[in-house]
Amino acid sequence: MEPADVETLPEGAAEKLEAEGIAEFYPPQDAALEAGVADGESVVAAVPTASGKTLIAELAMLSAVARGGTALYIVPLRALASEKKAEFEKWGDLDVQVGVSTGNFDSDEEWLASRDIVVATSEKVDSLIRNGAAWLDDLSCVVSDEVHLVDDAGRGPTLEVTLAKLRKINPGIQVVALSATVGNAGEIADWLDAELVESDWRPIELRTGVHYGSAVNFADGDQREVPVGSGEKQTAALVGDALDETDDDGNRGSSLVFVNSRRNAETAARRLGDVTARRLSAGEQNDLRELAAEIRDVSDTETSEDLADAVAKGAAFHHAGLASEHRSLVEEAFRDRLIKCVCATPTLAAGVNTPARRVIVRDWRRYDGEFGGMQPLDTLEVHQMMGRAGRPGLDPYGEAILLAKDRDTMDELFERYLWAEPEPVESKLAAEPALRTHVLSTVATGFANSRDGLLEFLDRTLYASQTDDDRRLRTVAADVVDYLVANDFLEESDGTLTATSVGHTVSRLYLDPMSAAEMIDGLRQVADDETPSALGLYHLVSRTPDTYELYLKSGDRDTFTEICYEREDELLGATPSEFEDVAFEDWLSALKTAKLLEDWASELDEDRITERYGVGPGDIRGKVDTAEWLLGAAEQLATELDLGVTLAVREAKRRVADGVREELLDLTGVRGVGRVRARKLYEAGVETRADLREVDKSIVLGALDGRRKTAERVLENVGRRDPSMDGVSDGDGGGRRTTFDRASESRDGAGTDGDAGSGGETSGGGGAGGSSGGTDADGAGEGDDRAPDTDVFDDEPAEETDDGSQANLMDFG
Ligand code: ADP
Repeated sequence: MEPADVETLPEGAAEKLEAEGIAEFYPPQDAALEAGVADGESVVAAVPTASGKTLIAELAMLSAVARGGTALYIVPLRALASEKKAEFEKWGDLDVQVGVSTGNFDSDEEWLASRDIVVATSEKVDSLIRNGAAWLDDLSCVVSDEVHLVDDAGRGPTLEVTLAKLRKINPGIQVVALSATVGNAGEIADWLDAELVESDWRPIELRTGVHYGSAVNFADGDQREVPVGSGEKQTAALVGDALDETDDDGNRGSSLVFVNSRRNAETAARRLGDVTARRLSAGEQNDLRELAAEIRDVSDTETSEDLADAVAKGAAFHHAGLASEHRSLVEEAFRDRLIKCVCATPTLAAGVNTPARRVIVRDWRRYDGEFGGMQPLDTLEVHQMMGRAGRPGLDPYGEAILLAKDRDTMDELFERYLWAEPEPVESKLAAEPALRTHVLSTVATGFANSRDGLLEFLDRTLYASQTDDDRRLRTVAADVVDYLVANDFLEESDGTLTATSVGHTVSRLYLDPMSAAEMIDGLRQVADDETPSALGLYHLVSRTPDTYELYLKSGDRDTFTEICYEREDELLGATPSEFEDVAFEDWLSALKTAKLLEDWASELDEDRITERYGVGPGDIRGKVDTAEWLLGAAEQLATELDLGVTLAVREAKRRVADGVREELLDLTGVRGVGRVRARKLYEAGVETRADLREVDKSIVLGALDGRRKTAERVLENVGRRDPSMDGVSDGDGGGRRTTFDRASESRDGAGTDGDAGSGGETSGGGGAGGSSGGTDADGAGEGDDRAPDTDVFDDEPAEETDDGSQANLMDFG
């Protein structure tokens, strides 16, 4: 079939699709159309990566809109929300309005209601439901992208419950679920009462194989010589080999290398830069130098430097610790074939459309903290990575290669990944932490008002549809209800369950009830005449289950034990005994996290923080976002329960959000003034917003390193009557020369801490004092915790679980 054959689309849609090169539908798309995807029928499409799932969703959503309805597209990662929105925005030409919900729901509810297609993460949708977003009642179509991730223990349950709620609110809603090829797509289809479209079809041939010795052994029996020089790594030989092969159009093959940790991605990119650098044209070298400069401008951190160094040589790394600007620069340059090799953690495989001629899965094992050692990746995950090989229309074929050092490993890899079917998807709902939050919200939002009603609702989940024995769910649900009643979040009388006022607040705030209980307990420990310190509050929120604490590295235990006793008075609640191993360790991890937040809120350089805690700039952003969210929640709980610490909590929150000491909070309230600029202004004698409106403009200009545009914007934002910098010179301190001298000294002292700096100014989101006003500003980097608008299904927690030795174990590439 071709686009013109689909009569349900809005006018002009078929022409638009054809103009974009969709001459006819791919076979899975034909099958979905036959199943009625454009006629409002529910469909589960389980097809390989890159075989056109997005278009299946678009056919459903556009048809729904043409019928006068609205559609919701649920993505698993916040980074994907912006990407999908950008992709769907082309339909604006047909007057189909697209919006993305990543920001604060209070501010964008009305605006979202006016959109035809809304893109959001499942956490966000769940949060919108909890907050009673009325427009959700009128949805006609919901798309769930990467639905196989219901299998994820951390975030799967939210997706599952969210879909169940949406279907309960809108009984006739069309559900379109897009899935990788999994072992039991039929069960997902049964759960969603949907037609199943299952296919192995790919638009470009995928050849899979294992490199061993001096050749790649393909699953189809072919071999390709790829000798490995002495002292050379297999990965380097394969990346070089792909680059040395040009296709009919003279294009060299690019490679995507998957590794198991951020540090490994960085190390590999550094090494592979030597391979790519030898194969660049003069023009490419030039373009790459420019790109490297752009990357350095994003932030002045070590990560930024390392990335720029690698990029200058034609290689890059890509992981969840990168700032989002870094990520998109890398993705774009890789798609444009300027960057020849990207070393990535599996985040990319989850859906960012970044294909390459050759995919090398270098690490097929990953450190598993719960297991306490290296564990092989799931077949499904490896298949997803392999599926990134081959760019339709650009490459003659795609190749996905695993690496083996010996024959046995090669055989194992064939068995485990090349010949094996992906695992079945299994619901993870019947776990206590997942149910704690979902049971509370189910009662608070009126989806159930008794224990039986609750079970009836839970019966709509994948878990229920997958199990013959619902005793487990019953038992866990009963325990959870007891817990919620004991903590005054739910009330039970005569068999009726209702949420208490605090229970409602906790549900709306999207907190794990256990986090709320911990915070309430901690705040109650503060005596009437005392003010809790910022560190005490950061520690309190860091020890809730809603924060992933930083991992204690060797040596950390001693350091933080010492800090713990030095500052014990500030911590809210009793320090566990050193003999209670697990509890004490947990307390120290929370303290390490709290110290990071305190350092950030004391204006320590971003660079120093990344070094001191062994994290990336994106991780700082993630921790800061989570702390800001949790402190905001603590503030509301304190107010509601009249705990008398509201002001202290608010100040700690504002300081961590802006990354500044107390005295700069007035200045960072100005859009465009982040922590670095605020400090410079302050040192130049400009201490408040009122000062900014009155002071000699040359002082502002001097403090802002002579950047006129920036200075004008700042003055405009603070509401200065005449913000123009025309004719103002930054060397002209006039009568305020002393102050100005002070400023220039501090500038010199700041060294590399330049204007593009480590503050919030250029990095968007969290640190930039209030600058992310728009609802679709791509907030801060990659929250790794549970805040409703953080990335979901991200590949790894902030803390690097592998240390050098584990990395070496894996380093066979
Ligand atoms: P998936 O979501 O399955 O990973 P995408 O939807 O991103 O895959 O599709 C991969 C690429 O294929 C996109 O660039 C898309 O424009 C293109 N594509 C999809 N359907 C067709 C088609 N029928 N004809 C030509 N190109 C298509």
